[in-house]
Amino acid sequence: MKILVIEDEPKSAAFLQLGLTEAGFVVDTATDGAQGLGAARGTEYDLIICDVMLPKRDGLSIVAELRRLGRQTPLLLVTARNQIDDRVRGLDLGADDYLAKPFAFAELLARVRALLRRAAIRAADSYQVADLYCDVRHRRVERAGRRVDLTPREFALLLLLLEHAAEVVPRVLITDRVWGMNFDSDTNVLDVQVRRLRSKLEIHGARPLIHTVRGVGYVLEDRGLDA
Ligand code: CA
Repeated sequence: MKILVIEDEPKSAAFLQLGLTEAGFVVDTATDGAQGLGAARGTEYDLIICDVMLPKRDGLSIVAELRRLGRQTPLLLVTARNQIDDRVRGLDLGADDYLAKPFAFAELLARVRALLRRAAIRAADSYQVADLYCDVRHRRVERAGRRVDLTPREFALLLLLLEHAAEVVPRVLITDRVWGMNFDSDTNVLDVQVRRLRSKLEIHGARPLIHTVRGVGYVLEDRGLDA
């Protein structure tokens, strides 16, 4: 289990890193908001612990940006004791829980474990990126509120991209997971499948969400209006 700690205060960061490592987690730390967001975008963490008051980019905007990108990573916000407004806003923006400073490590650990348990249950229930919605259990996909009918293979491909939203999914991983084999990735079977999926998802002028990373694979993310 991999945890990212975004905390600018060196003492707190070291304390969290030590405690969580001793509790059996793999811990990365970032010391400002920009670095934290970069790390959160570049690596798939099981959980992120994020201070609110950070240099360069505050914790609330990190929460907002990760949720906008479709990242479902459980997020625990750490706030100063008197910043109740921040806690409320943080939860509104998509944080999963918050903890007020100063806190006992045992309490943090209990919250972390509870969030990880909840995430394991919630995982793969539904996904949303921009106006794309996917209900996994009912295999229902909608774009801007309109139902999109997908073949089982197209659905499997979309689900894989959603599970790794905002990350590049390598071609070999896709062929392995969607076709159950590792066929020659030079073949254009995958490209054809992606093209069909795109054409269904980009109906009615909806903007592209699946992007090609040449020679590597594909990434599903919302790059805004000018993508
Ligand atoms: Ca701080």
